[in-house]
Amino acid sequence: MKDIERWIPERWDQIVGNRVLKEYFWDMIWCVRKDGHRSGFNLLATGPSRTGKTSAVTFGIKCLGCLNFDFSTMNPCGTCKSCTLNHHLYGNDGWENIVDFLDEHEAPTPVRYHYHPVDCTRLTEADLEAKLAKIRVCNEDLRIIYLDEVHRLSRRFMDERLLKPLEDFPAIWIASSAYVKRDGDSGQPLDKMFQNRFTFRITTELPDLDTLVLWLAKRCHEWGIRVEVPETTLPLLAERCHQIPGMALQVLNKAHKRRNKVLTLASVEEHVFDLEE
Ligand SMILES: [Zn+2]
Repeated sequence: MKDIERWIPERWDQIVGNRVLKEYFWDMIWCVRKDGHRSGFNLLATGPSRTGKTSAVTFGIKCLGCLNFDFSTMNPCGTCKSCTLNHHLYGNDGWENIVDFLDEHEAPTPVRYHYHPVDCTRLTEADLEAKLAKIRVCNEDLRIIYLDEVHRLSRRFMDERLLKPLEDFPAIWIASSAYVKRDGDSGQPLDKMFQNRFTFRITTELPDLDTLVLWLAKRCHEWGIRVEVPETTLPLLAERCHQIPGMALQVLNKAHKRRNKVLTLASVEEHVFDLEE
């Protein structure tokens, strides 16, 4: 555990709330791995920053490739060649891997699995064309394209370029977008036509206070963080972070970076939670 803010879960029960998003991934993983689906699962995940979009998506993609996947729990093994690949979005150019998708009725079918993460904040038009040329190949391979912060493309009128590929390329397109609601503004910066290319449009759900307190206690325990007066400190943290799990992780990260690994009440009181990022 090096970086709590960039933490990727290892089990589905480590993801707090977001039941609809989890259900999407369980269905998608099942249909891709057991029934041979390769498209038709385009997902647009929206919601404020740090509400768990990227961690759920990254973890779901990891599950797809696990060589010893457990279908009874839907959890990956965490130790196979595929699980230990770099799943972080940044500094990751994507990868391809051969996965034996177990079919209960037939022999295992090795599938070539390509993962293309795209950081839309820095993508140029030339980058986009190069990516599309790579993804365009039509065969039995499984392609997952993850467009993070996709509204950054529409801001530069590059979303138009994706309308056709989103519909025609046999791939699974996953996009995420954070937006801040403003007065008199629906807060939705994405074009309707673009949104409609995604059959599954899911908004992140914030956990209720009690669920979040329980989740924070579990994470502290797992990461060896001792909590000072937990019955006061954790509820205060859950409240002050506006129930946004990723905001609370910043405070846990600070505790984890201290020599004594203690989360104090004062550190929760002093932390500035910036919702306008
Ligand atoms: Zn694995």
